[in-house]
Amino acid sequence: MTLLHFPHGFLWGTATSSHQVEGDDANTDWWAFERVPGNIHDGSNADRACEWWRGRAEEDLDRAAELGTNAIRISLSWARLEPEDGRFDHASFDRYRQLLAHARARGLSPCVTLHHFTLPRWLVRDGGLLGKKLVPRFARFCARAGTELGAHVERWVTINEPNVLAFMSYFGKAWPPARGSAIDGGRALVALARMHAAGYGALKEATPETPVGLVLNVPDFVAARDNAVDRAAAKAQDAAFTGWWLSALRDGWLRPPLAMPPRHVARFAKSSDFLGVNYYGRYRVRFDPRSGATLFGRAETDRSIRTAHNDWGDVAPDGLTRQLRRVHHALGVPLVVTENGVMDAEDSLRRSYLVSHVRAVHEAIAKGADVRGYFVWSLLDNFEWAEGFEARFGLFALDPLTQIRTKRPSADLYAEICRHNGVTT
Ligand code: BGC
Repeated sequence: MTLLHFPHGFLWGTATSSHQVEGDDANTDWWAFERVPGNIHDGSNADRACEWWRGRAEEDLDRAAELGTNAIRISLSWARLEPEDGRFDHASFDRYRQLLAHARARGLSPCVTLHHFTLPRWLVRDGGLLGKKLVPRFARFCARAGTELGAHVERWVTINEPNVLAFMSYFGKAWPPARGSAIDGGRALVALARMHAAGYGALKEATPETPVGLVLNVPDFVAARDNAVDRAAAKAQDAAFTGWWLSALRDGWLRPPLAMPPRHVARFAKSSDFLGVNYYGRYRVRFDPRSGATLFGRAETDRSIRTAHNDWGDVAPDGLTRQLRRVHHALGVPLVVTENGVMDAEDSLRRSYLVSHVRAVHEAIAKGADVRGYFVWSLLDNFEWAEGFEARFGLFALDPLTQIRTKRPSADLYAEICRHNGVTT
């Protein structure tokens, strides 16, 4: 058994997002969506979530620190910080400042996301991602967050997984505003790319020294069978989901058929000082002439991690190595694994999942990818969007009714990895 060492200063973290842990986030589009019966599969909502806003954030940050992690990923609720167009809420900025100061005092380097799926309701009334003033408004929010909180932030993320958001909310109907339209999906993608470019500029102006990045979800799409049609279907899904963003980050061009007509976004090229890679698993794609909406590909699901409604793919650590190397070659910027984890209430899979994926990151580094950090999704079970509390990703289990936290065995294993700055072969 040898220890695979990580570079000195490597970030070992856990990840969360505002709406999923804070609770009392009633000014968001999700709050309204959660009230409609059937939208959240277990009938729950994020009214309390993990009660971070009622004062439990600090004790959870302490839990993260006690594991020996040295970084934490959180996000800001735009709806909370700007409850009305142009009116910022000082008390909420103060609360985030407190929380970030606490994290730093406990040795956790904060990585802060400005947009993690939720939007203020006032903005949604004005068209949401498809509204005319979206981009300047997001830039204004980023500028304000940069000025107010910049002193406490060591890494910014403008937008979490714009690729997932566009597919779940605009191409599809699973998340608000549930548009289910290819035309709106394409418009949402363009809007998200423009938002990122404007947010990047605003944050760089406010805090020039702090790295700013974009986070993409980068699954491993492969052909289900060894034939040309499955290969073409897998390639098409990958291109729509991931390739489109990578090529745009290289040259600033948003390409058809997702952007019609093709469009150049000023300052989008090279607008990521690092790229955040969220990785869960592999989709084996089979050609299916009836699946036009998913580019004639259908994921096979028998070996995957899934609920009745969502699917995080097959457990495939080598896919993470592959994707890190691919993004490294495509963009040449430092990478951070900003999310990796598995839904596993019993904690029977999680230990081997974490070990194999940490090894996969090591292999990517050994083969030349400049990976600077790894964040487990998630610190504790939280409100898993349309799954409610059914999908449990936490190193700590949460009982949403009693709010009791219980450490899962995989948390101790992750603590070992952090302590050794490495993993055994
Ligand atoms: C998202 C998280 C989510 C996780 C597990 C990612 O797509 O960024 O918010 O909870 O996956 O589904």
